[in-house]
Amino acid sequence: MNFAARAAELSGWMVDVRRDLHRNPELSFREERTGGIVAAFLEEWGYRVRRVGGTGVHGFLEGTPGAPVIAIRADMDALPVQENTGLEFASTCPGIMHACGHDIHAACALGAARMLAEAKKDGSFAGGVVMLFQPAEEINKGAEAILRDGALADPPAAMIFGLHNHPAYPARSVVLKEGPLMAAVDTLKVRILGVGSHGAIPHRSADPVVAAASVVMNLQTIVSRNVDPLEAAVISFGTVHGGVANNVIPEDVELTGTVRSFRPEVRDALHARIETVAASVATGLGCRAEVNIRRDLPAVTNDAISYACCFRAASDVVGAGGIIQATPSMGGEDFALYQNRIPGCLFWLGVGNEGIGAVHPWHSPKFVADESAIPVGAAVLAQSVVVATNG
Ligand SMILES: [Zn+2]
Ligand SMILES: [Zn+2]
Repeated sequence: MNFAARAAELSGWMVDVRRDLHRNPELSFREERTGGIVAAFLEEWGYRVRRVGGTGVHGFLEGTPGAPVIAIRADMDALPVQENTGLEFASTCPGIMHACGHDIHAACALGAARMLAEAKKDGSFAGGVVMLFQPAEEINKGAEAILRDGALADPPAAMIFGLHNHPAYPARSVVLKEGPLMAAVDTLKVRILGVGSHGAIPHRSADPVVAAASVVMNLQTIVSRNVDPLEAAVISFGTVHGGVANNVIPEDVELTGTVRSFRPEVRDALHARIETVAASVATGLGCRAEVNIRRDLPAVTNDAISYACCFRAASDVVGAGGIIQATPSMGGEDFALYQNRIPGCLFWLGVGNEGIGAVHPWHSPKFVADESAIPVGAAVLAQSVVVATNG
């Protein structure tokens, strides 16, 4: 089956599906309506459907015995953002918006699922397919939840493909990279414990505010002084909490931040240095630092074989001219958790288009995507499965 041509025929339907989801966005782990729609479609096309990870959906299209099972993953959740796009199909739910385009991902994956079922019927494809519609990507919990429910184990999947839209790339481009694409994500919490006092009697205190300020500044030197300049790493603080009155030196200050990296060695080195620098800076100022680093997600890393399958599929759909080499992002994606278990490739689907205002970044209340990319995404996903199946 020529998926590019079939996807073009189905594009009106896919856009309708996307707009319906866009009007009715649901937050992480509350994708009841979305999951219901997805499950009904998959059942209609002959997939064996079960619910996973709460609101997630697992659909299995059985192949001929011995054929590999290849998985496609989409996410479905929206964000607590008040939409401000003025689109005629804007969100009807106050304060909730598909501002990351997961409605587009669901539409692309449904398109791929439908075409693969059609290809199975017409005899042009005989492999097994697992469709994964995961909840809660935005809070990094959905992949974990459906994996716990056997998303890749029952039946065992050999390879997985997925996409994320990208408004910084031109619509209908397929943006690909072998190796690291998106960063490992860790949550950092540093508590500085000191001795409180009157603000006018600082010599009787061990001031955690001054120590916290020094910790923030000195942790920035880890990226600039301890990480190879040719490697990528980020340490950013997002919250600083401490104290209740302007003239009272508090007992403690709490900092929270995010730590990003690609290579496991860099990640481990960052963690070790954060512990050492925070502890010694705090101690030097008469305080104590409690450091807690939670490993949220590994890096999204596309292995050579699944990347090659995806590249070939993209070449078939958009031609070499439609493929762009990706510049990696320090953003995270829980697609990495699937890649931790089996080979897999995540690609970006360009949805940018200045002419229609599709220029705003993910999570912006003005996020708009060029829907003409949807059939391209669907076709590349379906074709990747076929290429991976046929080897
Ligand atoms: Zn997002
Ligand atoms: Zn997203």
